[in-house]
Formats: sequence, C-alpha cells, structure tokens
Amino acid sequence: MQAGDASPPTVVASERGGTARSIPPVVIVGGGFGGLYTALALASLAGHPPVLLIEPQERFLFLPLLYELLSGELRAWEIAPRYDALLAGPGVGWLRDRVHSVNTETRRVRTAAGREVSYSALVLATGSTENTAVVPGASRHALTFRSLADVARLGEVVRELGRRERPLQRLAIVGAGPAGVELACKVADLLQGACVVELIEQGEQILPRSRAFNREQALSALRRRDVRLRLRTRVEAVEADRLTLLPPEGAPGSASTTEVLPVRAVIWTAGLRFQPPPLIPPAPADTSGRLRCHPDLRLEGQKDVFVVGDLAALPATGTDPTGPPPANAQVAFQQAAVAARNVMRALAGEPLEPFVWQDLGEMLSLGKGEATLTGGGLTLAGAPAFALRRLAYLARLPGLPQQLRGAAGWLAEP
Ligand SMILES: Cc1cc2nc3c(=O)[nH]c(=O)nc-3n(C[C@H](O)[C@H](O)[C@H](O)COP(=O)(O)OP(=O)(O)OC[C@H]3O[C@@H](n4cnc5c(N)ncnc54)[C@H](O)[C@@H]3O)c2cc1C
Repeated sequence: MQAGDASPPTVVASERGGTARSIPPVVIVGGGFGGLYTALALASLAGHPPVLLIEPQERFLFLPLLYELLSGELRAWEIAPRYDALLAGPGVGWLRDRVHSVNTETRRVRTAAGREVSYSALVLATGSTENTAVVPGASRHALTFRSLADVARLGEVVRELGRRERPLQRLAIVGAGPAGVELACKVADLLQGACVVELIEQGEQILPRSRAFNREQALSALRRRDVRLRLRTRVEAVEADRLTLLPPEGAPGSASTTEVLPVRAVIWTAGLRFQPPPLIPPAPADTSGRLRCHPDLRLEGQKDVFVVGDLAALPATGTDPTGPPPANAQVAFQQAAVAARNVMRALAGEPLEPFVWQDLGEMLSLGKGEATLTGGGLTLAGAPAFALRRLAYLARLPGLPQQLRGAAGWLAEP
C-alpha cells in the first residue's frame, strides 16, 4: 500500500468478518479516538458489514502522550502506530483521503481526491483543532500542539531557546486547560531556566473542569518550575515577537489599557474549533459548530448518521449534573463502543441505546517523570502517578494484546 502524501488514495480492503457483503460499507470519517475505536469495535461484532475508515493521516496519534514525545520520554513509534498495521488485522478498510462533503440524501461521501463512496451507515468523527481564529495573528504566528509536525516544530524552538540562554527571553502558552498546563510543565523542564515560561489564561483559575486535587497538584508543579501564571488576562493580538494582553482590571498599571509582552514563541492551546465536512443538506450544529445529536449518538434528523468524539454535541441529560460530556479522549472511547452497537442496531431496524458518560477520572502529566491523577476512589501524584498514567495509556493503544489492554481500566468503556 502506498502511504505517501502524494500517492493516490488507498483502500485496504476488508477480507474478513461481515455477512452482509452486498450492502455498502459503514463509512467512518476520521480515524482519531472516536473514529478508529468505532471502526475496531464494529469489526469485532459478529455479522458486521464491511467497515471503511476514511482518514488522511498515515498514523493514528495517541494525543495524551504527545507531551512525552516532546520530552523524549517516549518515541514516535510508541505512540503513533500506522493505520495500515492497525486495520489490516481486524479487517477494516482504509481510504487515505479527506472527506470533502457528505450528501445524506444520496448517502454518499465525496473525498478531496474526487472519489464518491456510498454508505449504509455513516459515522462522523472529524474531531477538533485549536481555535486560533478568534485572535488576530494567532493563526499565523502561534504554534499549535496536536500533530507529529507540531512536536517537531516545538522541539526545534525549545532547542533553540535552550541554546541562547538569555534569561529574559519568554515563551508564552495561551490557555490553562489541561493541554496548556501539561505543556507548560514539560517545556519548563526542558528549558531548565533558559527562558521564562508564561502561562496566560483569561479565566479565573487554571483547569476549571478538573478535580481540586489535580488543580492543586498542577498549581504547585507550575510554581516549582517558576512558570509565570497570568489569570484573568486576555490575549488581544499575536505578532511574531510579541503579544498584546488585556490584563485584569485593577492590576498594577492596567487601568483597562493593554500591555505588550515580548515573546520568542507562542503556543496556542485555548479553545476548540469544529470543522466537519459540509453536509448536504446542512446539519444542525450548536454555536461552536459541533453537530447536534440525539442521546443515542445519531445526528439530529438522521436515521443512520452517527457522530462521535469532540464533534458530537449531546443534549444534557437529567442524570448528569455536570452537563454534556466534555471533549476528551475518555468520552470518545466510551462513545465508540456505543456507536458500534447502535450502527448494527440501526441497520437491523432495532431500537438504539443511549450513550451515558461515565466519568472515570482524570490524569495529567506535570513535567518530566511527574503526574497527578484522580479517579476510581484514588488520588495520586508525583512519580507513581506518572508511571500509572503511562501504563494506563500505553495499554489503551490499539493493536496491543488484549491482556495488556485490560490493565487500562482508566479509560475502559463501562
Ligand atoms: C495534546 C493533547 C493532549 C490531550 N490529552 C488528553 C488526555 O490526556 N486525556 C483525554 O481524555 N483527552 C486528551 N486530549 C483530547 C483528546 O485527544 C480528544 O478529545 C480526542 O482526540 C477526540 O477524539 P476525536 O475522534 O473526536 O478527534 P481526533 O482524535 O482529533 O481525530 C479526528 C480525526 O479526523 C481526521 N479528519 C479531520 N477532518 C477530516 C476529514 N474531512 N476527512 C477525514 N478525516 C478527517 C483527523 O485527521 C483526525 O485523525 C488531548 C488533546 C491534545 C491535542
């Protein structure tokens, strides 16, 4: 199979499994956490129809371990297996291409390379990206942290800053959610004081959705590394060598005026953007662009189109006091199993089950060899938490033997 970017789209055809060979495949758009695990779950069900994953990247990327790739604690082959290796065994087809549009009336998807693919059921799982569009200059000048190319670019910036050893140079990270906090700790460990690390957050506190224990551990990890935390501070503009900030009212010298912060580099982790391929006719979406779904993960108004992962906007249910599930890998994993079962039920004309999120806890990497975790009645920090987090995630990587995966109770579906 050809896998280079310039090669034509490639289908690795399924030779195993399904009984319903004459029907079009179940097409899954996007091979991240939601899409890949839905494909694998479907392929494990008896009597499944052909399954085709459409994903433009060559490798699945286990995003929670991306920080360890930056720090050199893990290597690319450990966290980024190739799709052809992952999918050939289970008998899932892979089309290396990008979906350009979906017509839910003709039940066909069109790809960027001009292919038309019919589906019997469709699963949309195109995820999210950083929302750099909200602040002038961010798309052009800020680095993001989501791909192997991003890691390579940031690694180069960190090495360069490390070589200069000018203590007054600054690297800014925008957004103090999990990604911003985890990245700040890792980068501070890598830079070893060669550069000031600024963490900028417009909200009142870091990690607003996290457990108090994890937030306290994170705050103390940031302090120990001398990361400068600026809360209630809005980034107004990003330029190549500076940020324009709106500090909190009442801050010394602020008086509602902006402040210019010279920086050598900016990493953007604040906010998410959702960009599903255009649907014909248009599908209902919430204000942030997530597709509105029924509790059984079906796209509103559709019988055989499902949405999983970050892209799915689920209604708040009475049973969940915290509101709809967050956009994270744990939710996507859990939705994948339900989506696979519901696809089979929809094709058989049977009633579907609702998705009920089970919050199994949270694990955060806090620098080299350090982490914090809460969940399952356990709170743990430091080196033991780092080891447990790594084991739990590595065991969740697709393609590993079942017994090892079983060790990863953390993310397992309920
Ligand atoms: C650095 C980082 C660390 C994270 N750490 C954690 C963590 O510790 N714990 C946690 O629970 N969550 C974590 N997350 C969040 C988690 O990774 C996401 O919530 C999860 O990946 C969502 O899964 P998804 O399937 O919806 O989307 P994704 O995993 O983003 O996958 C979307 C896929 O769709 C593909 N795609 C996009 N558009 C198209 C198209 N038009 N046609 C075909 N394919 C397309 C993309 O190439 C991609 O492979 C982290 C995220 C990041 C960026």
